[in-house]
Amino acid sequence: MSLIILRNYIDGAWVASKASSLADVRCPATGEGIARVPLGNRDDVDRAVAAARAAFPEWRATPPLSRARYLFRLRDAFETHFEDIARTLVREQGKTLDESRGEVRRMIENVEHATGVTTMMTGYGLEDIAQGVDCSAEPQPVGVFAAIAPYNFPAMVPWWFLPYAIVCGNTFILKPSEQVPMTQTRVFEIMDDVGLPEGVVNLVHGSRDVVTAMLEHPGIAGISFVGSTPTARVIYEGCGRTGKRVQALGGAKNCLVVMPDADLAAGLPSMITSFFGCAGQRCLSGSILVPVGEAADRLVGAFTQAARRLRLGDGLAETTTMGPLVSAAHRERVRGFIAKGLAEGAELLLDGRDCRVEGLEGGYFLGPTIFDRVTPEMSIAREEIFGPVVSIVRAADLDAAIELVNSRGFANAACLYTGSGAAARDFKYRVTPSMVGINIGIAAPMAFFPFGGAGHSMFGDTKGHGREIFRFYTDTKVVISRWF
Ligand code: NAD
Repeated sequence: MSLIILRNYIDGAWVASKASSLADVRCPATGEGIARVPLGNRDDVDRAVAAARAAFPEWRATPPLSRARYLFRLRDAFETHFEDIARTLVREQGKTLDESRGEVRRMIENVEHATGVTTMMTGYGLEDIAQGVDCSAEPQPVGVFAAIAPYNFPAMVPWWFLPYAIVCGNTFILKPSEQVPMTQTRVFEIMDDVGLPEGVVNLVHGSRDVVTAMLEHPGIAGISFVGSTPTARVIYEGCGRTGKRVQALGGAKNCLVVMPDADLAAGLPSMITSFFGCAGQRCLSGSILVPVGEAADRLVGAFTQAARRLRLGDGLAETTTMGPLVSAAHRERVRGFIAKGLAEGAELLLDGRDCRVEGLEGGYFLGPTIFDRVTPEMSIAREEIFGPVVSIVRAADLDAAIELVNSRGFANAACLYTGSGAAARDFKYRVTPSMVGINIGIAAPMAFFPFGGAGHSMFGDTKGHGREIFRFYTDTKVVISRWF
């Protein structure tokens, strides 16, 4: 059976890519090919930019409330097709249906938040800054923006940006991850029915060549990026060279710190989800578990027992609690980290390498893996693994735990489990990661709060969604006037 070749969406129409090569999109649970994605090139980007630029003048002159009305319609359309989007996502990415539904919900919440444009985009003014002279600060759309997305949240991450960019009056080009291009293809099909003016939103499939063309294109005013730290650097530097606005969100190495006074019975389920949800492929996943003092005595055994109970399988099966990794190549990379952990002398409490899932021998499964007695210098405590591998680093006290958190270079998220308000306050005050959980394992900001880290986890200063995204997608023009 020949596989469908995905198309780009440019200027309100589905068009064949100019790509000379294609890549397979595979179902991670079975390893089977499910589609082919064009690895687009500069011609595709030129075409999309031309369409987006042509659409900009009329779109920017469309009143913000009228722009928001498209989003209201879009929200309803997404609700209608909710399950369809969630299932498409599972097939190409591998996470469980529950996780996928949660992700699609988060995607829709961004559409809902963006409809607040008439409040969120406003500027400010003051009369008589000097006698008879008035001043106003008026945010205006800038032009064409692009977003480049990672593979782990195919539905949600592009929507941290798209609805805000367009509701502010800009036009937009999305490049999804070539590993998971089907979800946004489905989303754009749904969007097509909503009738946005042609050229306002565009979808270009591809990988590095498309990104390079976007970075170099003078017609693109700014780029929103989410992915690994090495690529985030490429994007940040590339935008610097061509003078584009940029927000580049990168990788993570998140610590979950557990104090001796933590309520373990209440906290354990969220700790397990934190480390093993989405098979550890979340920028907010726990990576290092840090029991403080005697917390280790109660925690390590209970945590390992709970991890053993996870049920691997196809994400579409309701009984599955952990899906596969995204690809064979990524599984090899994660296995490589397990080998490194052993070579560096960590103690392997649970080994996920020999897991088998009956009937799904071609899938990219890797079971929960736990290392104890990890030291902060080991590679499994320093590098982003992005899989279901836990490094337990024991800390003598809260100070030592905070020191560990703040010395990872990455600074995306950190969580503390405790019964003490004073410890919680000390922790959130002193840790450098920008997303902090207190008795919460995945400190994921909702659409109306900003998403993004610090250190090597983010380059640029304006984070995803929240209030500040309206500033990223506008230029504040200051008008000073005097009339005679
Ligand atoms: P990735 O960096 O490999 O790819 C991200 C995007 O960049 C893709 O669209 C890809 O086509 C493109 N790309 C990859 N290499 C490139 C290169 N050399 N030049 C130009 N473009 C390139 O990331 P991924 O593997 O798809 O996603 C996982 C990573 O994303 C993890 O590091 C994870 O922590 C991170 N992530 C971060 C956040 C956050 O909020 N900080 C959220 C989700 C994922």
